[in-house]
Amino acid sequence: MKGTVYKSTGSWYQVKSEDDGKFYDCRLKGKFRIKGIKNTNPVAVGDKVVFDLEDKAEEVVGVIKKIEERDNYIIRRSVNLSKQTHIIAANIDQVFLLVTLNNPPTFTTFIDRFLVTAEAYDVKAVLLFNKIDTYNEEELAEIKFLAALYRNVGYECVGISAKTGKNVDKVKEMMTGRTSMFSGHSGTGKSTLINAIEPGMNLKTSEISEQHKQGQHTTTFAEMFDLSFDARIIDTPGIKGFGVVDIEREELGDFFPEFFRLKQNCKFHNCLHLNEPKCAVKQALEEGEIAWSRYKSYLQILEGEDDNYRIDNYSK
Ligand code: GDP
Ligand code: ZN
Repeated sequence: MKGTVYKSTGSWYQVKSEDDGKFYDCRLKGKFRIKGIKNTNPVAVGDKVVFDLEDKAEEVVGVIKKIEERDNYIIRRSVNLSKQTHIIAANIDQVFLLVTLNNPPTFTTFIDRFLVTAEAYDVKAVLLFNKIDTYNEEELAEIKFLAALYRNVGYECVGISAKTGKNVDKVKEMMTGRTSMFSGHSGTGKSTLINAIEPGMNLKTSEISEQHKQGQHTTTFAEMFDLSFDARIIDTPGIKGFGVVDIEREELGDFFPEFFRLKQNCKFHNCLHLNEPKCAVKQALEEGEIAWSRYKSYLQILEGEDDNYRIDNYSK
């Protein structure tokens, strides 16, 4: 049988069968290892697997025999074993980042770090500017400016109000047929939005991330949920933000799509777009084709102001 992992507890996996739509508790057959990754969990939420059903006494147990190749996956580094990583989730179609101007403020440096991570993971990112019901004209102009900036880079942007329901239908449309994640600072409206999308649904994301911030490490596992329309959400309790990713200095520019598009025009193929002569990125910056805020974020990440660019630990 073929199915998708909806829940993982470390030793047991809840798998939804493609054949009959039912959930089966599965375990792993023998030791699984995935080449090139030292991970603590061989199977993660979102994984597509092949499994057999075995009759054991009265209960039917599923045995996972094969894990299909992943389109993408996001990781967390293990707290104790620094060399090991924990796969949070796999095969994610898109991640929505909720952005608010105030209460709380979301800075462009945070947005950019998030987008770099999404690019590095190869997960599509969408920006949702929430709480548009609360903004005055000046603030709405700022939202428009930011949306234009990020659309120009290539990201979809939608202004929404989780409270009044404005454009929530657009978000639902984007979610249809896909597996989505939601991210954003605490207080940006993730719970409110998810409740507007699916009344009665409560994800754990926000509450547990507060504990996480205080350094109390709780072992929590991601979980996938089917919504009442054809859409799935992955909830990642205990994981603030979007995992971590290590990026080499030389490849950072590749995760800024507008820099990447110009890279071939730089004189040096390994140009860091700093002070090199004939740098196409610097030229575009001076000509106003690249936003200064984006370049500033690039420099900040490059200078490693944040240890290993650990986006999960970003604090305002
Ligand atoms: P979370 O921490 O990201 O899950 O944020 P919550 O969903 O708990 O929202 C934080 C606060 O913002 C709550 O008081 C919500 O009622 C409020 N809120 C969320 N979305 C909106 C919105 O679109 N407009 C307004 N005015 N308030 C909102
Ligand atoms: Zn350059």
